[in-house]
Amino acid sequence: MSFDLIIQDIYNQVKEAQDNGKVASYIPELLNVNPESFGIYFSANNQVRYGIGDCGYKFSIQSVSKVFSLSLAYSLKGEDIWNRLGVEPSGTSYNSLIQLETDHGIPRNPFINAGAIVITDILISCLPNYRHDFLEFVRKLSGVKSINYSAKIAVSEKAVGYRNIALCNFIKSFGNIENNPEEVLDFYFDICSLEMSCEELSNSFLFLANQGLNPHSNEQVLTKSQSKRINALMQTCGFYDESGEFAFKVGLPGKSGVGGGIVAVHPGEYVISVWSPKLNEKGNSFKGMQFLEKFTTESRLSIF
Ligand code: GLN
Repeated sequence: MSFDLIIQDIYNQVKEAQDNGKVASYIPELLNVNPESFGIYFSANNQVRYGIGDCGYKFSIQSVSKVFSLSLAYSLKGEDIWNRLGVEPSGTSYNSLIQLETDHGIPRNPFINAGAIVITDILISCLPNYRHDFLEFVRKLSGVKSINYSAKIAVSEKAVGYRNIALCNFIKSFGNIENNPEEVLDFYFDICSLEMSCEELSNSFLFLANQGLNPHSNEQVLTKSQSKRINALMQTCGFYDESGEFAFKVGLPGKSGVGGGIVAVHPGEYVISVWSPKLNEKGNSFKGMQFLEKFTTESRLSIF
């Protein structure tokens, strides 16, 4: 099957289609992007690579980074992390506070902001040089040394991060944050501010298509079971209250971010990343969702 032709054809169809989405504006710096940007990058386990459009342009990956922080915390602490957060879809938006009160400060899963903030706290507790170590982890996964945080984006989010500040303090009040909330939030905003291209994202997620083995360094980053579990969480929780719809229409584990990026993994086969900054009302890339639905339909390569 010729992936490049399928991708090219769907790229052209979706590029021309009407986009009803809106660029995220609650982090002011995110508006500083060409709203018409559109890129795709496909990386297969068998070395096939194909990119089109703005696939080499670095953008703010935002919540896609939650997969990296979870993977690092999981590799360091193993199953212990599940004492601090759950593995159930929340059915709520990414920044919701509502379930935390009845759940006594235990976030439903690691991909909503509450869960990612707890994961950030775990990283701070076990890594003396956490800012540097996290970056090195992502650089190794991608095989690209130039990947970095964006101070501009992190500062812009911090200045208006009222909901995340509330979430972190609320969880702290239940005793599920060990460190100073301000330090946790600073690192959380840094993690969200990572800038990567579709090409870098696809290559850095290959370990999840490869049973936890990083093909660039030949290192086993996660065990097979841990890698399976992260894919399972992406499938059930990767798109907040649109996770069911993504499973229904696309049929792959995946993760989105408010910068307009989506990464989807076919375990054992390939990773595909899409970037288009305008978001639907659930905070997921409007064209990204459309593209991936068409891609797994026409290539017939979903996990179901
Ligand atoms: N940094 C963003 C936030 O915390 C990430 C949200 C997202 O990408 N869904 O609000």
